[in-house]
Amino acid sequence: MDGCIFCSIVAGGAPAHTIYSDNDTIAFMDINPATDGHALVIPRTHVRDLWEIDEDEAARVMAATVRVAAQIRRALEPDGMNVLHATGSAAFQTVYHFHLHVIPRYFNDPIKLPWVPRPGDRTKIAQMAEKIVAAAG
Ligand code: 5GP
Ligand code: ZN
Repeated sequence: MDGCIFCSIVAGGAPAHTIYSDNDTIAFMDINPATDGHALVIPRTHVRDLWEIDEDEAARVMAATVRVAAQIRRALEPDGMNVLHATGSAAFQTVYHFHLHVIPRYFNDPIKLPWVPRPGDRTKIAQMAEKIVAAAG
């Protein structure tokens, strides 16, 4: 898609450190890494987010992510790994071409859990579940 930086990377028009590539996906290093080895896995085809991607495409991106995670593990021997996705600016999305962040984690890294875990209101949790179940497709 015109004006999409990730489409430009796929097309070779913008530089990137590509670490993995197959027929449907590529993975490259994030230019603002949260930790050493932070990479992004994207579909070659432009699709905006989790609400637009179809299940087959999502499965292909996830399969590539499993491979990339293993590759990073072999290369960097991190202590753990986060896979993160953002859909919408409310969720911190800034590039509107679907991507999964693959973030190697180290015991001494600076990343913090972005919420404070505390018990929720049980009635509200049940109400949310009821609403979501009622919306099943
Ligand atoms: P989002 O905030 O949408 O979940 O993540 C977008 C990510 O893309 C950010 O972590 C950002 O650093 C990364 N990014 C943005 N522009 C470029 C670019 O031109 N090249 C690379 N390699 N990463 C980019
Ligand atoms: Zn794109």
